[in-house]
Amino acid sequence: MTWLWKKEIESVVFWLLLASVLSLAIGHFSTMVFLICLGVLIRQIRFINQLEKWLRQGAKGKVPKACGVWEDIYYHFLRLKKTNRQQKKELAKRLEQFRKSTGALPDAAVVLNAQDEIEWENAAARDMLGLKKSDKGQRIPNLIRFPEFNHFLKAKDYSQYLTIVSPINSNIILEIKVVSYGKGLRLLLAHDVTQLKKMERMRKDFVANVSHELRTPLTVLKGYLETLTDFDNGLSPLHTTSFQQMLEQTDRMQHLVDDLLLLTRLETKQKKSDCVDVPKLLRQICQEGEYLASVKQRIELSLETQVKVTGDEEELRSAFTNLVVNALKYSPEESLVKVRWHQNAGKAWMSVTDKGEGISLVDIPRVTERFYRVDVKRSRKLSGTGLGLAIVKHVLMRHDAQLQIVSELGKGSCFSCEFPHKRIC
Ligand code: ADP
Repeated sequence: MTWLWKKEIESVVFWLLLASVLSLAIGHFSTMVFLICLGVLIRQIRFINQLEKWLRQGAKGKVPKACGVWEDIYYHFLRLKKTNRQQKKELAKRLEQFRKSTGALPDAAVVLNAQDEIEWENAAARDMLGLKKSDKGQRIPNLIRFPEFNHFLKAKDYSQYLTIVSPINSNIILEIKVVSYGKGLRLLLAHDVTQLKKMERMRKDFVANVSHELRTPLTVLKGYLETLTDFDNGLSPLHTTSFQQMLEQTDRMQHLVDDLLLLTRLETKQKKSDCVDVPKLLRQICQEGEYLASVKQRIELSLETQVKVTGDEEELRSAFTNLVVNALKYSPEESLVKVRWHQNAGKAWMSVTDKGEGISLVDIPRVTERFYRVDVKRSRKLSGTGLGLAIVKHVLMRHDAQLQIVSELGKGSCFSCEFPHKRIC
C-alpha cells in the first residue's frame, strides 16, 4: 500500500473520530457518519468523472488536478502513456529500417495474400517484374501473364523454382521462389539469373564445340593408326605395342567425345514423347550385352510386365545400355547380371542387379557426377569415361523418372529406374 492510500484512509478515520467526539457533546452520531460517507462518495464520483472525461479526450493536454490516491492513479496513466509512445516510436523506426533494407535488396520481393493479391512490393519488384505502386490489391497472375507462372502459383509446391523471362525485358531471366509465412501470406522472390544462365550456355556451347571439333581429327588419327597397324610386320615389338596403345587411347577419346556430345544434346534437345516398347528395347540391349561379355549367358532378362513408357527410345536405349554394360564391367566374368522390367505401386521399374564389387555408401551419391569414378586405378583398367551414369541421370530426369542405387561393398549393386504412372502408355 502506498503512503497516499494510507493518507486517504487516515483522513476518513480522522473525520469519523471527530464525529464521535462531537456526538458525545451534541448527539446525532449516525447522521454525522452518514454525512461523512456521503461527502467521501461525492468526492470519489467527482474524481472518477474527471478521469473519464480526460481519458475520453485521449489523455491529452494537462493532467486534471487531483489529490490523495488520485494523484497516484494519474501518475500511473502518464507513465503507461509515455512507455506506449516510446514503443510506438521504436516500432516505427524498425519498420522504416525494414522498408529501407528491403527497398535496397537487389532481389524483387512481393508479399501476396491467400488470394494472390499484392499486399506490398519493393523497388526491385517494380524494376524487374514491371509492377506499379498502384497495383496494390491486384491479383499477381493478372499482371504477370505467363501460363507457367500461373501454373507455378496454383501448384503451391514451394520447394520448386521457376525460371521465366522478365515481363518487361525479355533479355532478363528471372528465377522465382515463393516462401510461405503467417496466415496465408507468401513472399515471392525473384532473382536475376541472366548472367548465370549466360555462363551456363557458354559452358555448354564450349563443350559442344570442342567435342565437335575433336571428332574429325580423331577420326583421321584413328584411320591412319589402323592403316599403320595393318602394315605392321611385327618385326619391332616397340612399334606394335605403340600402335596398339595409340589405338586404344584414340578409341577412349572417341568415346569421351561421343559421351560429351550426348550429354550436351540431352541438355538442349527438345523432349520426345513416343510410346517406347521397353520390353522389346531391353531384349535388344541384353542381346547386344551378351556379345560384349566374354562368357555367354551372363544376362538374365525377366520381363514381368509388357507396359510401355512415353519418351525417347534412343535416350532410353543409351541409359539402359550404360547400366547393363556397367553391371557386366564391374562384376566377375562368370557372375550373373539380372535385368528386370516390372510394375509396382502403379509405377514401372527397370532394374539391373549384379554380384560385383559394389559401391561404398560414401560414393553412391557421387557416382552420377560427371567424370566421377570410384576407384580411379581400377576404373582406368576397365575402359570407361566416367560419364555413363551422368547420362543415365539426365535421361531419367527428362522422363520424370528417378535412379535409385542400392549397393554393398563386396556383395553387388542394384540400379533401378523408377518411371511414374503418368509415363506409362
Ligand atoms: P564409367 O565410364 O567409369 O563406368 P560411370 O559413370 O558409368 O562411368 O560410372 C561411374 C563409376 O561408378 C564407375 O567408375 C564405377 O566405379 C562405379 N560403378 C558404376 N556402375 C557400377 C556397378 N554396377 N558396380 C560397381 N561400381 C559401379
